[in-house]
Amino acid sequence: MSTVPFTEPEERVALREAVSKLAGSYGHSYVAEKTRNGEKLTELWQDMGKHGFLGVNIPEEYGGGGGGMADLSAVLEELAAAGAPLLMMVVSPAICGTIISRCGTEEQKQHWLPKIADGSIIMAFAITEPEAGSNSHRITTTATKDGDEWVIKGQKTYISGVDEADAILVVSRTADAKTGKLKPALFVMPTDAKGLERQVIPMDFHAPEKQFQLFIDNVRLPADALVGDEDGGIWQLFAGLNPERIMGAALSLGMARFALDKAVEYAKTRQVWKDVIGTHQAIAHPLAKSKIELEQGRLLMQKAAALYDAGDDAGAGEYANMAKYAGGEVACNTLDVAVHTHGGNGLAQEYGLGNMLLAARLGRIAPVSREMILNFIAMHSLGLPKSY
Ligand SMILES: Cc1cc2nc3c(=O)[nH]c(=O)nc-3n(C[C@H](O)[C@H](O)[C@H](O)COP(=O)(O)OP(=O)(O)OC[C@H]3O[C@@H](n4cnc5c(N)ncnc54)[C@H](O)[C@@H]3O)c2cc1C
Repeated sequence: MSTVPFTEPEERVALREAVSKLAGSYGHSYVAEKTRNGEKLTELWQDMGKHGFLGVNIPEEYGGGGGGMADLSAVLEELAAAGAPLLMMVVSPAICGTIISRCGTEEQKQHWLPKIADGSIIMAFAITEPEAGSNSHRITTTATKDGDEWVIKGQKTYISGVDEADAILVVSRTADAKTGKLKPALFVMPTDAKGLERQVIPMDFHAPEKQFQLFIDNVRLPADALVGDEDGGIWQLFAGLNPERIMGAALSLGMARFALDKAVEYAKTRQVWKDVIGTHQAIAHPLAKSKIELEQGRLLMQKAAALYDAGDDAGAGEYANMAKYAGGEVACNTLDVAVHTHGGNGLAQEYGLGNMLLAARLGRIAPVSREMILNFIAMHSLGLPKSY
């Protein structure tokens, strides 16, 4: 019988310390400056790749660290806790790296995984469509076989990091020859493919990673662009979506840690009456509540990752959703508390919390919304009727 430990193994603790040290040497000021100048976090990304941190989940024989999602999520949590999250880790090594590791051909693994692991290429991931949104069963991007090639046609929206990616793992549908029913299929599409156009979506929160609308107009791809089996079904997709949820949780939880650390420090030092503001329960209790909710979220994330790494996809699905929900909530609540603890300073650029408040809000929306998680838990964990 396998057990899920409540403490992390020594190697993961050491991994956290090493990432924290590296990320701390860049810090939030590096990210803030890059963001203000409209630049990418290239130095940090490359440094992380050089140290092997971006590919800790990729199998060793393909240049990775041979670990799993528990390791990769620990890496992202530490980056975010240092104020220097790398959003594309959610996509490139976690979603794309995992799907290719689990479903790709030997050639695809040899071609893509070492470069994803060392960060020398970034692979974006595109599932969301304007007319489908949360209902990914409704996507209409279609792949049609034409001789030895696939022809892809459709539209995607809110796709992160296309401008820094070399390729995109595009979720499409193929028509079942017998039934005509559409089946999900995954294709690697180079970002410079003929017929692929992109348009940046202006966002209100500022981040080095941009979001794009994609217009895929009869893009022709070779036969070996298909990742996994055309008839493999939905599990191939969830091989990547559960890691995405675990990483979404890691990003949110790390941001919450960053905000809580800052707020606690401020509460210990800011004095406007006879004692520091942390003396007042109105300031101390919300911070204590955040600490408890943060630890709850971290336990859920660690359990989700442990189940995923143990090969229990169904169990991982349930806990990845719960971890993602808990992470989104604690990040939003903690950022709000941290801003409030800082008074007027909470929204000053110098403290780095105002923009993060908006970024934390993303954790309630993407990659899967709070409501869709509640729908999932109501139906699958509690056995309640489907509501939609
Ligand atoms: C910054 C950012 C980065 C992103 N990056 C990527 C990416 O790299 N790749 C990618 O493929 N996508 C990406 N997305 C898209 C993201 O996954 C979607 O925004 C998300 O899945 C929600 O879909 P939607 O925006 O269409 O909302 P909708 O589906 O239109 O939902 C709108 C609201 O209605 C609620 N709702 C919908 N259906 C139900 C229901 N049945 N019951 C109750 N409530 C419901 C939702 O919870 C939500 O609050 C990104 C989004 C953002 C904002």
